[in-house]
Amino acid sequence: MSYVFTPPGVVSVPVTGSALKFPTHRVYCVGRNYEEHAKEMGYTGREPPFFFLKPTDSLVVVPAGETGTLPYPTLTQNFHHEIELVVAIGKAGKNILAKDAHSYIYGYALGLDMTRRDLQNEMKKQGRPWCIGKAFDHSAPIGPITPAAELPDIDKATIELTVDGDVRQTSTIEKLIWNIGEIIEHLSAAWELQPGDLIYTGTPEGVAAVVGGNVMVAKLTGLPDLMIEVL
Ligand code: MN
Repeated sequence: MSYVFTPPGVVSVPVTGSALKFPTHRVYCVGRNYEEHAKEMGYTGREPPFFFLKPTDSLVVVPAGETGTLPYPTLTQNFHHEIELVVAIGKAGKNILAKDAHSYIYGYALGLDMTRRDLQNEMKKQGRPWCIGKAFDHSAPIGPITPAAELPDIDKATIELTVDGDVRQTSTIEKLIWNIGEIIEHLSAAWELQPGDLIYTGTPEGVAAVVGGNVMVAKLTGLPDLMIEVL
């Protein structure tokens, strides 16, 4: 059989300490999952978890030790960073209970849920989908995936983003409103999870704009740093 055109390749993410790559399936994101971030966005931080998706080809994969590049997107004057822990799913499942969720996790990575905040806010105001604010090209930088077995204390990890050396966002994974198991329980009730799915778990407070020339460095205890320059 021949295709009409060459089909796009699989987007894959390097695995820490291995020559293997993690092939990606879907990119799910959790909205407003830190109380202080929910408040800075004008909400209470007391709502059920909700989800949106980014296209898998919006991932910008940055290997350990390298500084990736991120083109400044079109149509925005308010391009925001959101540092997030990313959960990488290793096996299929639906209606997974929080207490069983960890057996579905392959590993963890650092990610940035980059956001055209002005467009997102306008869509919110009009009650329209967020896609144009959240799911644009290059909107999902991600670092290498580290196997879960190497990160037994992920719940205690600290997460921090600097821009040109200044700390913009800092928090801990413990402060997630909906923890990793609860996220997987809610998400897998709505979609059947598949190996290769990535879940951006939500950002802490301190979201703000970046401009061309800024270098973002994301850190999370036990993971390689994620470094990326805005062009
Ligand atoms: Mn986010």
